[in-house]
Amino acid sequence: MSENKTISFKNIANEKGEYILPKLEFAYDALEPYIDAQTVEIHFAKHHQTYINNLNAALKDNSEIAKQSIEEVLIDLSKVPDAIRNAVRNQGGGHANHSLYWSNLTAASKSGSPSKDLAAAIEKQFGNYDDFKDKLAKTSIGTFGSGWGWLTVQPNGELLIESSANQDSPLSKGNTPLLVIDVWEHAYYLKYQNRRPEYVQNIFNIVNWENVSLRYEQALKAIKN
Ligand code: MN
Repeated sequence: MSENKTISFKNIANEKGEYILPKLEFAYDALEPYIDAQTVEIHFAKHHQTYINNLNAALKDNSEIAKQSIEEVLIDLSKVPDAIRNAVRNQGGGHANHSLYWSNLTAASKSGSPSKDLAAAIEKQFGNYDDFKDKLAKTSIGTFGSGWGWLTVQPNGELLIESSANQDSPLSKGNTPLLVIDVWEHAYYLKYQNRRPEYVQNIFNIVNWENVSLRYEQALKAIKN
C-alpha cells in the first residue's frame, strides 16, 4: 500500500449544494467475471444516481444540510428536520452505502490483501482470514430482504461484522464501515438470479483491500483523536 495515498471517503456536495456520483475507479467491465458489466452500469448510473437525485430533491429547501458530507449527516440524523429525516436516512444512506461499495471493489488482478495491521485485527477478532470471510459471507447472505453486510470498526477500535436493512448505515449507530457487500437483488440478479450466496462468495475475489485497509487506518486515527 502506498504510504502517501489519501482518500477522504467522504462524499461532499458540489458548489450548487447537490450531491453527485463519485468517480468510479474502474471500467464497467473490470469486475468480470464476478460482476457483469451491465449490472455495474445499471447499478452505478441508474440505481446509485436515483438515490442521489432523490436525496437532492429532499434537501431542496434545507440547503444547510448539504454543507456536510453525506457521511457526517448520517452520523447524527437527529439534526435533520423531522419532515425529511426518513428521506435522508434512505436516500442519503443509499448514496453513502453505494459510494463505499464502489470504493471497496476492484478488478480481481488488483484485489491485493489486507494491510499488516488490518490482517492482525482480523485474526484477533475472528481467528483467521477464512473464518472472517465465512462470517461476513454468512451475515451478508442471511440478511433478510434488501440490505447490506458490513465489516465495521466500533468506537472501541474493535472490528465487527454486522448487517443492516434497506439503506441504513452503521454510521448512524456509531460504527465506521470498512467493507460492505450489497445484497439488494439489483446488485446481482442479472447474472446470478436467486443465487445470492454465489454472488457474495465471488465478491471476495474483487475486494479493493488497499482502500479497505486505508479506511481502517483512518478509522483508528479518528478514534485516537
Ligand atoms: Mn445497490
